[in-house]
Formats: sequence, structure tokens, C-alpha cells
Amino acid sequence: MAIKKEIDQSVIDGFKATLRGDLLTPGDPGYDDSRTIWNAMIDRKPALIARCLGVADVVACVNFARDNELLLSIKGGGHNISGLAVCDDGLMIDMSLMRGVWVDHKTNTVHAQAGCLLGDVDRETQLYGKAAVLGFVSNTGIAGLTLGGGFGYLTRRFGWTTDNLVSIEMITADGHIVQASEKENPDLFWGLRGGGGNFGVVTKFEYKLHPVGPEIVGGVIAWKGEDAADVLELYRTLSEQAPPELTCVVLLRPAPPAPWLPKEIHGKPIAALLVCYSGTIEEGEKLVAPIKAFGSPVGDIIQRRPYIALQNLLDGTQPKGRRYYWKSEYFSGHDPLMLKKFEEHGSYIKSPHSAIILFQLDGALNKIPDDHSPVGNRNTKTVLNITASWESPEDDQENIEWARSAWQDMRQFSTGGTYLNFLTEEEVGNRLQDAWGKNYDRLVEIKTKWDPENFFRMNKNIPPR
Ligand SMILES: Cc1cc2nc3c(=O)[nH]c(=O)nc-3n(C[C@H](O)[C@H](O)[C@H](O)COP(=O)(O)OP(=O)(O)OC[C@H]3O[C@@H](n4cnc5c(N)ncnc54)[C@H](O)[C@@H]3O)c2cc1C
Repeated sequence: MAIKKEIDQSVIDGFKATLRGDLLTPGDPGYDDSRTIWNAMIDRKPALIARCLGVADVVACVNFARDNELLLSIKGGGHNISGLAVCDDGLMIDMSLMRGVWVDHKTNTVHAQAGCLLGDVDRETQLYGKAAVLGFVSNTGIAGLTLGGGFGYLTRRFGWTTDNLVSIEMITADGHIVQASEKENPDLFWGLRGGGGNFGVVTKFEYKLHPVGPEIVGGVIAWKGEDAADVLELYRTLSEQAPPELTCVVLLRPAPPAPWLPKEIHGKPIAALLVCYSGTIEEGEKLVAPIKAFGSPVGDIIQRRPYIALQNLLDGTQPKGRRYYWKSEYFSGHDPLMLKKFEEHGSYIKSPHSAIILFQLDGALNKIPDDHSPVGNRNTKTVLNITASWESPEDDQENIEWARSAWQDMRQFSTGGTYLNFLTEEEVGNRLQDAWGKNYDRLVEIKTKWDPENFFRMNKNIPPR
């Protein structure tokens, strides 16, 4: 493919020679693997892909793209539904080879390069019986998750992922390395805690660690779809009464062909609870006992297990290369009518891979002021995620329509806020203010200071003033 703005081949060769990592062009081995992401609905073709091996490579990429007026995109774990990690015709920085992780025992923090997946960080921190606040699927990238907010099983105790961020290393539009923390460049640090990839290329994150694991009590339990109303009531009660160490996620979907579910259930509707108790094993076993004894489950693998095993549990349900379309809203509670609608739309699911999910979030994040960082939304108790997932382009319309109509019906219960990291491409233009709320204006100030030319624009973009 020709680069839109013609760049002399000798200039490209010169750039290639400055990199430690590979520079790929269409047709090169690895090019298609690098440009394809989790969501197969996204099919963009960068003119150049730089597989960076270090900070110097990232600096060289930023300088090259800027000097040659190329659109730049940044790929972390490639898990974002909107697919903005990949650009057409420009330069894509592929961070996936920068996956170093260093635990600092003395400061109780972990430093992780920005190409890490969540599992990379958990694996190293669990050696010390510690964990950072990360998400539910181990092959999600830390970069996109952190820059957009981030939540997981530890959020009820410790807040958004960004509430647990200690420092960041970033490359600016003019190719400089900067550090950001509460003490150094605090305005930039504020913006990076939820403002997305708007300000530069992050090369390293430092997170606070918490004592978790190496074993916890957790797993998944499922009942027949016909029991959904009772399971939702159980989820509502647990959400109101459970201590912050216990996090529950409820979902309705067709049963996957998982070995822990009987064959005759596969493909039939189920209501399931994902559970994690991150405190002591004894207390966890006591608290999950009534869940395990509830009704007549068709499968139950809630048990004492390594925290890492729980973090990997959902990976197989979210493979790279399927077609995905999501809708999401924050809710401030569990209105009985909302739960009724949730059940109703769960029963209309069109694909064996789709699900409708409520993630419990209430706790630590509600105790912090809304303007602490751009991720905001401190009034949220739970997040709705309508996840349509299917194989073939012919089924696009049917599955997208299911997700859209469920969302249209359920958004009446929304706080008005939505999770930046769950926005689809079509929402990027019109829902950013919902995601950031009153913090948006301050983000514009920071963008104007750090990237006045909007060089970093292939993202959930905040135009500078
Ligand atoms: C299966 C699945 C499970 C998920 N589970 C959770 C969950 O439990 N909790 C949660 O909070 N979210 C979850 N998410 C949402 C997830 O947080 C976002 O999709 C996030 O953007 C993924 O990050 P990534 O690095 O993998 O994505 P990418 O698509 O690689 O990147 C997303 C965007 O982040 C920016 N970016 C990436 N790297 C950099 C960098 N180094 N510097 C600057 N900007 C950068 C770019 O703008 C890029 O377009 C999940 C998503 C999926 C697909």
C-alpha cells in the first residue's frame, strides 16, 4: 500500500535503520497479525507498523510520524472495541513486545511496560502475594485499560485502576520523555488517569500493590435460564450486603461448551454469577456457601484457587477474531424494573457467544471526589455491558440490533455516564462528554498544553482549544 503522503523510500529505510524493533509494511510476515485486533469488525491497514523494543524506538516513531505528517496510532493489547489502536495509511506503534514487569518490594509498587497484558503483571506480583487493580480478562492490555479508568475484582476495595496509579512515563508529541506523578507534572498525571491516549505514548506505568492471594475463593456458578429472576434477586441482595472483599458479576447468556457445564446445557440459556472473595480463605468460604447452596445450579466451580487462575478464567470466552459490538451504561443501583428488563433482553440473545452483564463496582470508588481524576463517575454502583459477539459478517445486523435495542430500553436507568473503555466506534463522536462529565473542560486545558496540534488524535479524542 502506498503511504497517502508520498514519503521517499530512502527516508523510510533510514527510519527503519534507527529502530531496534521491526518496521513492517503490507505483505511482510507478521504485518497482518499485528494489524488485526480482538474485534474482527475492525479492518484497517497502516502503511507502516513499528514493533517497538524500547523507549528509544517509541521516540523515533513519534519523531518520524510528526516530521512526515503521518497519522499515528498506538496499539497496546488490541482489546479496545472501537479499534482506534489501528490506523489506515499511517504509522501504528505496536507496543506488544514491551512487556517487562518489575515488582518493587520496598515501595510496594509494580512497574510495567506499556505493552503488558494484565496477566503479565499479575504473574509477577503474585510471586509476592500482591496484586494491582486490573480487569477480568488476562489478555487485555494494561495501557488502554488504565488510561480509560479500569475496574476488576479489586475495584470495590481499592477504586478504579487509575486511583491506584503512582506514576507514568510518557513520550510527548515533540519526542520528549516525561514522568508524571502527584509530584511531577501533576496536571498531566491527572489527565492520564482516565483521559485515554490523548497526551502522548505511555511507555511505563507504576501501580500501587495490595496484598491479594496467591489463593482466593472465586469462580463461576450457573443456573438454568429459567431461574434468571431468582439469580438476579440473589445478585441484588449480595450487591447490597456483601463486604467490599466480595465482588459479584451477573450475566445471562447461552451456555458455552465448557467442561464444567453438562453437555445437555450447552447452547441453552443460563444465568451465571462470577465471584471473587479477595480476603481470607476462611471468610471467603463462609460467604460463598449460601451462593453455592442457592437453588439448583447446573455447574459450580467456585472454590479456593490461585488468584491468577481466576484472572484467566474468562479468557477462552473472548477470543481474538470474532465480531464484537458492545453497549454500556453506568447505573446507580439495582432498580427492580431495570433487573426485569435485563432478564428480558437476556432472553432475546441472538448468538451463542453474546451476553448481557452487570459488573458490581460500588465501594472505594464512591468515596473519592468526582474531580479526583477524569474517570469520574463516582456515583456508579454497577456497569451494564451488553456484549454482542458472533462469527460471520452476515449476522452483523441481527446481533448489532439486539445490542442496540437492549441498550435503548435500558438506558432509562443510567446515571447518564458511560465507561470510556466500552464505547464503540460510532459512539466516540458523541458520548465522550458522558464518559468524562464535568471533568471534560479540564481535560481540554491539559490537551491544549501537552498536545496543542492534536498530533495524538487516533483515540477517544479531545480536540485542543
Ligand atoms: C475481552 C475484554 C475484557 C475486558 N475487560 C475489562 C475489565 O475487566 N475491566 C476494564 O476496565 N475494562 C475491560 N475491558 C475494556 C478494556 O479496558 C479496553 O478495551 C482497553 O482499551 C483495552 O486496552 P488495550 O491496550 O488492550 O487496547 P488497545 O486497543 O490496544 O488500545 C486502546 C487505546 O488505548 C490507547 N493506548 C494504548 N496503548 C497506549 C499507550 N502506550 N500510550 C498511549 N495510549 C495508548 C490508544 O488510544 C488505543 O486506541 C475489556 C475489553 C475486552 C475486549
